[in-house]
Amino acid sequence: MNQLPFDKPGRFYRGNLHTHSTRSDGKLSPAEVIAAYRDHGYDFLAITDHFLESYHFPIVDTREFRTSTFTTLLGAELHAPRIELGVNWHILAVGLPLDFAPTGEAETGPTLARRAADAGAFVGIAHPAWYGLTLADALSLDAAHAVEIFNQTCATYNDRGDSWYMEDMLLAQGHRLLAYAADDAHFSTRADYRAAWIQVRSESLDPDALLAAIKAGHFYSSQGPEIRDVRLDGERVQVTCSPAQSIFVAGRASAARYETGPGIARCEFPIGSFAGSYCRVTVVDAAGRRAWTNPIWLD
Ligand SMILES: [Zn+2]
Repeated sequence: MNQLPFDKPGRFYRGNLHTHSTRSDGKLSPAEVIAAYRDHGYDFLAITDHFLESYHFPIVDTREFRTSTFTTLLGAELHAPRIELGVNWHILAVGLPLDFAPTGEAETGPTLARRAADAGAFVGIAHPAWYGLTLADALSLDAAHAVEIFNQTCATYNDRGDSWYMEDMLLAQGHRLLAYAADDAHFSTRADYRAAWIQVRSESLDPDALLAAIKAGHFYSSQGPEIRDVRLDGERVQVTCSPAQSIFVAGRASAARYETGPGIARCEFPIGSFAGSYCRVTVVDAAGRRAWTNPIWLD
């Protein structure tokens, strides 16, 4: 049984997992941040301010903004010493309890991530390409559920939005990490919001149900295109999506296939060349916007 969301019960809910507010270095208050998403087609949002002493270790309580059609997950971006290049870790944690204890003096990135996961959070390796995270760093973060494979803020300000290289390296070595895209919105001088999100398949908008679906990998990521179905029939992977320019499937090392053509919305690929490892699907529309599935394990 694979973790693809498309044949799971329920519907897709659109949300952003990585967002900042005035509780750390964002420019909008939590209420303004919520409105910027809730009033523009999003079903849920996690405000994940920097969990630092200088900001009084914020875990923003957004429960008051929950309605029957919009919900929030509680989280933070965690920091502790120290990656191989000598700077502090950036670790996304969504689904934290409000009483999650401040970072201890002796805590490191890996021990802090473990404590967050043990407290129930979905743990993401935030924007590895942005700060030169190494494969050894990522392997040391053994509590992580996922790699942040695209970060809009890192794309906007640093041209380092794409971190698929890290996910592919981990997958090629047999590590089963999920892949998510996020805005990391700060609402400062340039547009860094409503640009990269996940679509989570869930039976309801209940925060616990959403969090469980995210941890189970029942989602895909997008900058615009819709992935409507991906299915395996044993020999082929079939992809159905909104009209696109190209559809790619990629796997271990250089294994890859593609189809291209204006308005392509369906294609299938033989999976023989990916057997024993994994594959993943990318859809690119005419404007260059992408959507990505989670990895699909084939062994
Ligand atoms: Zn951030």
